[in-house]
Amino acid sequence: MISLQRIRNDTSIPRKYRSPSKNRHELDLMQRHLAGEEPSERHWSAAKRWLKRESFGKCAYCEARTDTVAHGDIEHFRPKTIYWWLAYCWDNWLFACQICNESYKRAQFPVAGARMTEWDLDDAVLSEIAGSLAPCPLDGDARYCLGAYWAEAKAERADLIDPYREDPSSLLAWKVDSIEEAVMVVPASRRAATQRRVKACVRVLGLNREELYRERWAKYVDLKLYVRVRAKLPGNDPLRAEIERKIESMMADDASYAGMCRYFVRRVWKLPL
Ligand SMILES: [Zn+2]
Repeated sequence: MISLQRIRNDTSIPRKYRSPSKNRHELDLMQRHLAGEEPSERHWSAAKRWLKRESFGKCAYCEARTDTVAHGDIEHFRPKTIYWWLAYCWDNWLFACQICNESYKRAQFPVAGARMTEWDLDDAVLSEIAGSLAPCPLDGDARYCLGAYWAEAKAERADLIDPYREDPSSLLAWKVDSIEEAVMVVPASRRAATQRRVKACVRVLGLNREELYRERWAKYVDLKLYVRVRAKLPGNDPLRAEIERKIESMMADDASYAGMCRYFVRRVWKLPL
């Protein structure tokens, strides 16, 4: 997992997801909820290309590339089965692979604090609420601004890491198991909160599933070889510069398992790359 950034401008966020158009869709969401119907998947499927770009074509959780054999999902960070009113919330979406999303996470969302308060629609005038179920991604609605949304979200003390909101590198570390030929995700510190949260990420997202730890091992073996070759070359050798470019490309935002590669290069081997 690496840090991601929302691109907040008129061209990156289609009009229907912004105020005032989003009012109409939130009205539809409330009507569906009262009628016991599912929210419309069509609503968020059009956002996939934008979220995929922000995620560099990789799953926001496991960092595997999704485009070779699958389309990838729009994932609701806060599951729509619990947080129905955030089903159409742009800031609740991220791009994820089907395995992290559908096989593992599903509707799980462990929190250590109090959950966000659910909207009570029973006596509400829906048309007055419409537009303020979720913040506008361009922060264009004073009734519910992004700052208020993030304050509520923070109070939940969610176990899972939202890579748009916090830097995963402060929580995640990687451990090599040469006998199993595996690289496992582990907590980066002994702090109780870090231990709890990373264990939840591993369990809920399946971050240590065999397919991942084997792929990470293969990447780690390549990375280590490049680092060893670099160490044997004099500083002015053109091959050393080439090797360094290769190592840097393995840590780039669009490289699979870049978070793991950065961890070993910068924190374990302490290379100035
Ligand atoms: Zn994934």
